[in-house]
Amino acid sequence: TFDVSPPWLNRVLERKPRVLLHAVDGVSFSIERGKTLALVGESGCGKSTVARLLVGLYAPTRGGFQFDGQDAHAAFKTPEGRKLRRRIQMIFQDPYASLNPRWIVQDIVGEPLREHGILSDKLELKQRVGELLQSVGLSPLDMSKYPHQFSGGQRQRISIARALATQPEFLVCDEPTSALDVSVQAQVLNIMKDLQRQQGLTYLFISHNLAVVRHVADQVGVMYLGRLIEVADKQALFATPQHPYTRMLLDAIPQMKHTGRSRTPVQGEVPNPLNPPTGCAFHPRCPHANARCSAERPKLQTLRGVQVACHAVEEGRI
Ligand code: SF4
Ligand code: MG
Repeated sequence: TFDVSPPWLNRVLERKPRVLLHAVDGVSFSIERGKTLALVGESGCGKSTVARLLVGLYAPTRGGFQFDGQDAHAAFKTPEGRKLRRRIQMIFQDPYASLNPRWIVQDIVGEPLREHGILSDKLELKQRVGELLQSVGLSPLDMSKYPHQFSGGQRQRISIARALATQPEFLVCDEPTSALDVSVQAQVLNIMKDLQRQQGLTYLFISHNLAVVRHVADQVGVMYLGRLIEVADKQALFATPQHPYTRMLLDAIPQMKHTGRSRTPVQGEVPNPLNPPTGCAFHPRCPHANARCSAERPKLQTLRGVQVACHAVEEGRI
């Protein structure tokens, strides 16, 4: 079990030049080994910030990340942290930007093996890269080609092969298929699911697309403005969504039959994360908001068998 124990990630601020974005506050979840937790939410909700925290690209200002019983953020800072980094890898959204265009595939996929001192012998490296390419449905003959010679889906397979080079246990996948054509997305998702079964991989899968989440997740965490507002098993979330925001997201998907209601586009805009609304941050968009909602922030708590942060659910109003 990977625990991200509370209170963690309080007020994590991602600093980009002159812009301050994606605060994440008190986000807490755990992922069972071999399973997939999907984090969903609209852009700017802090999903990618969580991903980057888990692989050590950002450090939290408070809280931490327990990986297999150890404090990952403390370990990342030590020489031992290198070993931990082998066990946690990330797959990025854009396979066009994440592969070095001047390198052949052999060097792209083989780099982590050299970098971590796993293999240095040229022949052994070549053989291992060939195996990795085969594991994602590519040919060992592809290793002498450059990224531009592949389609988007193939490039994402190369990224996955590279991420798997160090034999990680935990993969953090930030929108891994959202830059791809819809027809190719399912192929890549199926490869990821096969690899998970074969290698016992654990995934944190970040997506804004609930149809994709439904395909891959065991558990789903819904984020809104840097907070988790609902965490539930996939079946429960899709069959009986509790939080009004989750319901709104589901109602916006074509042919989602969870409520028998017809499709309704997502209403309203995501507020500025730097200046979130008082009380429940969702209240300006919520059809069930009342005075308590704009005054008091609801806590994530177990209600109706799931974790949900909503006064109306707590009060039985919806
Ligand atoms: Fe809506 Fe109030 Fe629930 Fe927030 S707490 S989701 S505003 S009902
Ligand atoms: Mg993102």
